[in-house]
Amino acid sequence: MRVVRRAACFFCHNNCGLLVEVEDGRVVGVRGDPDHPTSRGYLCERARFAAGWLYHPDQLRHPLKRVGERGEGKWKTIPWSQALDEIAERLKTLVREYGPECLAFAEGTYRSDAYWARARFANLLGNPQNVVGPSTICFVNAYAIDLAIFGRPLFSRADLKRSRCIVVWGSNPSESESSGGLQWRRILQALRSKPKPKIIVVDPRFTEAARRADLWLQIRPGTDAALALAWINVIIEEELYDKDFVEKWCYGFNRLAERVKEYPPERVEEITWIPAEKIREAARVYAENRPAAFTFGVSPDQLGPNSTRVRQCQAILTAITGNV
Ligand code: SF4
Repeated sequence: MRVVRRAACFFCHNNCGLLVEVEDGRVVGVRGDPDHPTSRGYLCERARFAAGWLYHPDQLRHPLKRVGERGEGKWKTIPWSQALDEIAERLKTLVREYGPECLAFAEGTYRSDAYWARARFANLLGNPQNVVGPSTICFVNAYAIDLAIFGRPLFSRADLKRSRCIVVWGSNPSESESSGGLQWRRILQALRSKPKPKIIVVDPRFTEAARRADLWLQIRPGTDAALALAWINVIIEEELYDKDFVEKWCYGFNRLAERVKEYPPERVEEITWIPAEKIREAARVYAENRPAAFTFGVSPDQLGPNSTRVRQCQAILTAITGNV
């Protein structure tokens, strides 16, 4: 008998809604759930191939113990009870001989102590601090900046549907969507509305978003902070900022104005390889079409040097133009 079950995809933390077709206890199809409140039927490639992943012959279903030399690829299946006993014994020996801090925990998509089971285990072991994860290069960087500047994260909550200017900076939403496809659909929806919002894309590559943009700034990779400083420079120099908002809510504006004098568009053209006039035009379009929003993307977190400064500058742009 074939039944359809509601489920959520756990291949990433968007947890898109799934309709899973099951026949005689076996998954035979996976599709997007159109009634899911956030993903609304969207699925990326990973979920579409979920059944293939589940039943792949190399899928790990039992503990395997190495029987050959490391790298030889020789394993034998052992029962769970034996695996757990052997691991527990090994951990006890390590802790006894070297102390609990001889161990480190590394994890993927989960960040910091978000993975409760690992956090609890590490606490009980007496070593809650040796944790490495992708937080500093994915999301948490920008999150921390927004917490410090605004008191809450704004960058992932842009209201694209009502924006008159959308800046796609550090994301490629039509291909690599971190919000279950929602962001790209909202951009397309906004593009169908009247009046159409202005779209600015900052990306070294000519992406699908760049193809639909009013302005595409083909930036030299890794120079985003300089570009953002030039935008702030233009907006302050040309008095395009929101004076009431700055007066009421912003601290350190005069020092900011002094600092960004070091980044006029002509100098930033040399750093970013974007023509100075185009930098000016983009800054004006951003400042003059309010409300304006930056899309959500984690690429700036991965730039290395100055990655934190990119989000800091975007947050400053959001603030001085009153787009909070
Ligand atoms: S974006 Fe893809 S991997 Fe992530 S939850 Fe949705 S379908 Fe699954």
